[in-house]
Amino acid sequence: MTQGAVEQQLADQASSTKTSTKYVYFFGGGSADGNGKMKEVLGGKGAGLAEMTNAGLPVPPGFTIQTEACREYMRGAVDAGVDTEMLSALHRLEKLQGQKLGAGENPLLVSVRSGAKFSMPGMMDTILNLGLNDKAVEALAKRSNNPRFAYDSYRRLIQMFGDVVLDVPKKKFEHIFDAIKHREGVKFDYELKPEALQEIIVEYKKLVKKETKKDFPQDPLDQLVQARDAVFRSWQNDRAKTYRRINHIDDWLGTAVNVQAMVFGNLGENSGTGVGFTRNPATGERVFFGEYLMNAQGEDVVSGVRTPLPISELERVMPTVYDHLRAITWKMEKHYRDMQDFEFTIQDGKLYMLQTRNGKRTGLAAVRVAIDMVREGLISQEEAVFRVEPNQLYDFLVPRLDEKGANVEVLATGLPASPGAAVGQIVFSAEDAVKHHTNGSYPVIILVRGETTPEDIAGMEVAAGILTSRGGMTSHAAVVTRGMGKCCVAGAGDCVVDEAKKELRVKGKIYKQGDWISLDGTTGRVIEGKLKTIPAQPDDADLVKFMSWVDPLRRLKVRANADIPRDAKQARLFGAEGIGLCRTEHMFFAEDRIEHMRTMILAENEKDRRDALKKLLPMQRADFVGLFKSMESLPVTIRLLDPPLHEFLPQRDDLLVQIARLEETKPRSPKLKELRTLLARVEDLHETNPMLGLRGCRLGIAFPEITEMHARAIFEAAVNVKNHGGEPHVEVMVPLIGSIDEMRNQASIIRRVADQVFKEKGVTVDYMVGTMIELPRAALTADQIAEEAEFFSFGTNDLTQTTYGISRDDINKFLPAYLKAGIFKQDPFATLDQSGVGTLVKMATAKGRNTRPTLKVGICGEHGGDPESVKFCHKIGLNYVSCSPFRLLTARLAAAQAALEEKQGGLVHTNK
Ligand code: ADP
Ligand code: MG
Ligand code: MG
Repeated sequence: MTQGAVEQQLADQASSTKTSTKYVYFFGGGSADGNGKMKEVLGGKGAGLAEMTNAGLPVPPGFTIQTEACREYMRGAVDAGVDTEMLSALHRLEKLQGQKLGAGENPLLVSVRSGAKFSMPGMMDTILNLGLNDKAVEALAKRSNNPRFAYDSYRRLIQMFGDVVLDVPKKKFEHIFDAIKHREGVKFDYELKPEALQEIIVEYKKLVKKETKKDFPQDPLDQLVQARDAVFRSWQNDRAKTYRRINHIDDWLGTAVNVQAMVFGNLGENSGTGVGFTRNPATGERVFFGEYLMNAQGEDVVSGVRTPLPISELERVMPTVYDHLRAITWKMEKHYRDMQDFEFTIQDGKLYMLQTRNGKRTGLAAVRVAIDMVREGLISQEEAVFRVEPNQLYDFLVPRLDEKGANVEVLATGLPASPGAAVGQIVFSAEDAVKHHTNGSYPVIILVRGETTPEDIAGMEVAAGILTSRGGMTSHAAVVTRGMGKCCVAGAGDCVVDEAKKELRVKGKIYKQGDWISLDGTTGRVIEGKLKTIPAQPDDADLVKFMSWVDPLRRLKVRANADIPRDAKQARLFGAEGIGLCRTEHMFFAEDRIEHMRTMILAENEKDRRDALKKLLPMQRADFVGLFKSMESLPVTIRLLDPPLHEFLPQRDDLLVQIARLEETKPRSPKLKELRTLLARVEDLHETNPMLGLRGCRLGIAFPEITEMHARAIFEAAVNVKNHGGEPHVEVMVPLIGSIDEMRNQASIIRRVADQVFKEKGVTVDYMVGTMIELPRAALTADQIAEEAEFFSFGTNDLTQTTYGISRDDINKFLPAYLKAGIFKQDPFATLDQSGVGTLVKMATAKGRNTRPTLKVGICGEHGGDPESVKFCHKIGLNYVSCSPFRLLTARLAAAQAALEEKQGGLVHTNK
């Protein structure tokens, strides 16, 4: 199609409809139609360009096609107004520049840039030098008196346009380019002679023809329309969709398209391009930070082809430009009242600004910048609280990978199950982990498993990081490591874990026991070899100061899930105001206890069971003494035995193998008889669906002596601590209650034992009896249950499982499909399903408080450490959230933000 024909067609379409929406916003000539607040309409980039233009900064002029056009494109019908307004904006730009797009002696060239409300890597790459064709390139060569520059610009256009608009594989362009570069014997792109570049252009065009069966479009307007539509389409590509899903960005926002007059950094040694930050984005330090390249264009700086120079070097070679850049970026920082991330180009010694936005930063930097800006008078303390995303505080608590200058080869990407980093030697079983830890042969261990089970606990304890090939965000590995504050990459499906051969196979490579790998639990990456790490800084002075601003703001209390005194101490360090969940069963997995636990379970009558329980009692009591002591007068919620008993028993298959072996070798061994009895009991206890079987309060109802022992251990410990000057506050929690009758049954045992102990010792201790609400029936009858229960704690893991009827251990089989189909926006086990499970929580809280106005209500599932879920808990008026110690800072900040948002009238802040 000729240029005239396209223009005519667009005009025809346009005249057929009228509309009131303004689709295109111009910027240039000293002012802009839009401004910096219009991110929703203009996208972040477009809003930034408008704002900078209005502020009188040197920005190449252009126009932004607003996001509504993209939404219309997605719906299948773009209003004709889009084309009309685009054409008139183009004419206005041509007039302002005194040039014509891709035509005449001095052709106008433009860039076409995507830009949504939130900055989104994964969307379309920018196209530069659009408008060039076979004729315009000659004009450009003549006009600039620089053929190398002109041909370089054209070959870049064909390559970028070919790649992002026409879907010609990038590799094929690179192949042609590298071959000619190699033949010419040059190292850098800019050393190529004009003739060589011309040859590349010929080859590129042949490639386009071959791949698309069409010539590279010569009509500049045709190029523009195609590029614009490609930007719209890129909103829907898989990379962009995935990014939005992970970051909870609405799929219907759409992207804007920015069309902007080109300025050239590749004109020669007096030109260049660069990027920078007004402060250091890794540390937050107030130093000018950036990189640039002379004689380069666009993405050259970040592409790694040439090594960019530090911005300080620019100060030396072009002091005036440097000073100008500093002055401008300072001004922008002051204007936006936040650290800026900017892009610039120098054309023949003149500086142009191409982008500015609030810079992304690490958690460390976020805290530091927030504090500095308050000190500098740029922002208020309350604003500072919103400058840090709750999840970012994790950065202070865990080590990170130091990737500076490192060769990072990603072997696989799994789920970021537990943040932090670990660099160590791999082992494939818990036993090997313990062995190599004990004999000191591996200083740092990474445990690699298909998935982990409670039996791996000892190995997980000594490992610095865990990698699994199966399992989701709430798999055993994920939950346990998050509790330990250890890094975990879970469900890395590309990793083949051969536990028998002790081999990890991935990306065609084989890693054996003792080989080094690096894990990044924050991104889910599994990385080849031995990277360096940066240690955790939980007592960082800036962090302490920041938290001192945060805490007075919140209404929600924050507690920790902690099972042993060590975790409790850690939790207090991170600000826990109590223990919201102590899972007693975790105490029983320890080496010296599991035997007694097994005997207890295997007992065939009450007497034997009581004998075994007697042995467990002093151990439990000692644990509770430790917990109460470390929490001083803060409340401690202890949950009675919860899991299905078979979790404590040996695996049926293992027993069968052992028995078969003995039958062959020592058929008369007494051990054989023992094993057969064990097997029979294991088979007895077998359940088709253990999650819905003999567990929770059902255990304590079937075997009241278990509840009695627990209660005795708890109250004796409490009395003991009180006798030593302590002031324990005990909350006994009955798990998996579904009816008031179950609650009555268990509460009466607990209260009876309490009375007995208090009478025996002559001391009374403050205590409450409550329940975990984790079954829909409990929520539905919460008013009745509250007659007996003095507190509720929502076990939202199980409540999600039972409300949805989804097993959290199996969700991974279909979660990807659900996410892809948009049925789930996120894993409901990671972020609370507010409309379903949340409604139950809200309703049960109201019903419970109706019966008992003083009812204390909290939440203790994985959701207690998820910012969105914490904010929800604040909104519905819970008393506290409880989370793993390492999520405490996050929960504290989220709770404070929720309270502030409420105070400011529902204003929702975002740093995205
Ligand atoms: P991203 O969103 O990936 O940052 P941009 O649209 O900002 O993509 O474009 C990337 C780079 O392309 C810019 O940093 C700049 O170097 C270059 N660029 C974009 N538009 C122009 C232009 N009009 N003139 C010169 N260079 C440009
Ligand atoms: Mg950019
Ligand atoms: Mg439960």
